[in-house]
Amino acid sequence: MEIGIAKMNQQLVELEKTLGRSTLNQIKEPFIVESGIELYLKRDDLLHPVISGNKWRKLKYILNHALSCGTHTIISMGGAYSNHLHALAYTGKILGINTVGMIRGERPKDLNATLKDLQDWGMQLSFVSRSEYRQLREYKQFDSLPKLKKGEYWLPEGGATALALQGVAELVDEIDSDYDCLCVPCGTATTLAGLIYAVPQNKQVLGFSALKGA
Ligand SMILES: *Cc1c(COP(=O)(O)O)cnc(C)c1O
Repeated sequence: MEIGIAKMNQQLVELEKTLGRSTLNQIKEPFIVESGIELYLKRDDLLHPVISGNKWRKLKYILNHALSCGTHTIISMGGAYSNHLHALAYTGKILGINTVGMIRGERPKDLNATLKDLQDWGMQLSFVSRSEYRQLREYKQFDSLPKLKKGEYWLPEGGATALALQGVAELVDEIDSDYDCLCVPCGTATTLAGLIYAVPQNKQVLGFSALKGA
């Protein structure tokens, strides 16, 4: 897969400067040391309390692309506890981009903490039936959602696009010690795909499903 290197939008450069540093920490629990395994944790959660971890990695080049095409509104989808929508709503607020979240299932009487944040950060919430939600999964390109208006940008579930892989690849580039295997939790497996795309051929990548019943 060929991914072009686009010029970074200045707003994103500024935002990235405010992020924390993701460190590589060795876990020295006795049972791990005794097993002869060296285990390191890449602390992407330290990047930001809301736009944390893989969510920033995945969004970075997507937002850059969206801004470069004059986007005023990003529309995406997720469950009622979606960290992806949470990060999108927050960055949308910082960057001055409107956001719309298509949420799976009926609107609950009381919004949970995630949905409340989405609303407080200005995301327009649209609750869709499970069958409509499944249909939305069919739209995989930024311009493929039917009836999209000028300036609107469609972002598939979990940010699953080729541009997301480019951001995740930067995580791999930061790892400055030798390793045999990368392990990662998976939802949509976009992060996993990004790791597989970025690691040298002689490294192994293992994904662990974080969803129940997956
Ligand atoms: C989003 C998320 C995942 C899944 O990432 P995918 O790229 O969708 O596989 C895993 N763990 C946490 C904590 C997340 O927020």
